[in-house]
Amino acid sequence: MPEIQPTRILIVDSSALSREILTRILRDELPRTEVITAESAENAIEVLQTHKFDVITTALMLSDMDGLTLSRTIRDSHDHHYTPIIVVSGDADNRLLREGFEAGVTDYFDKSKGYKAFGSFIKSFLQRHSGLTGHILFIEDSRTSTVVTEKMLEKHGLTFTHTTSAEEAFRLLEQQHDDPESGEHSFDMVITDFYTIGDMTGGDLLHGIRAKFHLSHQELPVLVLTSADDEKTQADIFHAGANDFVAKPIVEEILIARVRAQLLIKHQFDAIKRQTEAMRWVAVTDSLTGVRSRRYLVDNGQDFINNPDNQPVWAIIIDLDHFKKINDSHGHITGDHVLAAMGDLLNRFFPDDMVIRFGGEEFCILAKNYDRTRILKTAEKLRRKVEELEPVDVPVTISIGIAGTNDHPNLHISEFLTLADRALYQAKDNGRNQVCIATPKSRKTGDEPKTSSATP
Ligand code: GH3
Ligand code: MG
Ligand code: MG
Ligand code: MG
Repeated sequence: MPEIQPTRILIVDSSALSREILTRILRDELPRTEVITAESAENAIEVLQTHKFDVITTALMLSDMDGLTLSRTIRDSHDHHYTPIIVVSGDADNRLLREGFEAGVTDYFDKSKGYKAFGSFIKSFLQRHSGLTGHILFIEDSRTSTVVTEKMLEKHGLTFTHTTSAEEAFRLLEQQHDDPESGEHSFDMVITDFYTIGDMTGGDLLHGIRAKFHLSHQELPVLVLTSADDEKTQADIFHAGANDFVAKPIVEEILIARVRAQLLIKHQFDAIKRQTEAMRWVAVTDSLTGVRSRRYLVDNGQDFINNPDNQPVWAIIIDLDHFKKINDSHGHITGDHVLAAMGDLLNRFFPDDMVIRFGGEEFCILAKNYDRTRILKTAEKLRRKVEELEPVDVPVTISIGIAGTNDHPNLHISEFLTLADRALYQAKDNGRNQVCIATPKSRKTGDEPKTSSATP
């Protein structure tokens, strides 16, 4: 989404009480908003000469001028030609329908709906009218058309990278496709001339964007500039994958309206993508401890164990010793703090591995590429670290059970974890606060697992 900038709103109303209420409502609903008021049209016109606004609201009847006349005056001004104007009135339906559009009124709020509704109205209005931020990849080989278009984009606060050939643009997109972090900018949309010099036309570029990079109309909107007014060419433009086109010579209001529509689509697409990513993250992350959830293990554990690049893989199951006593004597909330501290410690101890909250006060780590000596050393170091940690001033110890794929290859994840779990129980049986590893023998014989204590 575009960055949220403070919004400036001008309220024009001859009633002091109305001005006060509207201002208060807007400040409540939109804390990052700067509200300035004017008591008359004359006063408003004066303020508009020195300040830039994102929205102007006006009453229909002002002490010195009609609201629609004020609207016409604002539309004719240079600085606020494009600023949305909202008429706030109780009984103006008919007049606004007949004259509002011609007078340049953008929208109309019916005062009889109440002041609270006014706040929500402005809020959603601003959401609908934001979106004119973004970086554009602009391809145009005609010098005159370039200058004219760039001026229009700049005037509306848009930034762009300009190329004169489709080849160069294609190269930039290829670079971004291969390494999204590489370029100075990522492109929010493309504006391209349809016929460009060189072997590659704007049409070819467009086709490449859709067919080679597989960027959808939402992911990378493309607006085509064309002087062709025949329907065949226009149909071709859509066929090649354009979102829309603008006819040359370019009319500023049309270009900007179409750019706005495409950027809105792009920003919404990005927002949904981010939300989906955030939701996926929430679904696989345990909120108390910040490690992955059991769900994540179910989805990814088997692949992690089987992956040849990860060999050998170790399952490490960790259980806090006598945790029930900690809850009983210090309270459940303190118990939660201890678990959170454990999660934090484990994430830091195993940054490249899969750290899971297995359930309750039990954690599981799938660790990759450790040899036996190193995994035992790491587990022992962790055991000692926890012993020293005393999170929230509570002494805690852990028992650790380990199994490795080198000793126990080709197992289903549940069998593999069972081996580590049995080693854990051995550690508990041996008196807790220690590390045990499942020996290769334990599986072959099917006996009670023989575990070897790794503590000195
Ligand atoms: P052992 O050394 O044999 O593992 O003893 P223990 O007390 O740790 O084991 P037990 O399984 O008897 O008790 C586990 C306790 O962990 C019981 C349960 O209330 C507590 N527990 C599980 N999940 C949470 C949690 O999210 N927060 C808190 N505070 N306690 C939890
Ligand atoms: Mg237990
Ligand atoms: Mg326990
Ligand atoms: Mg337990």
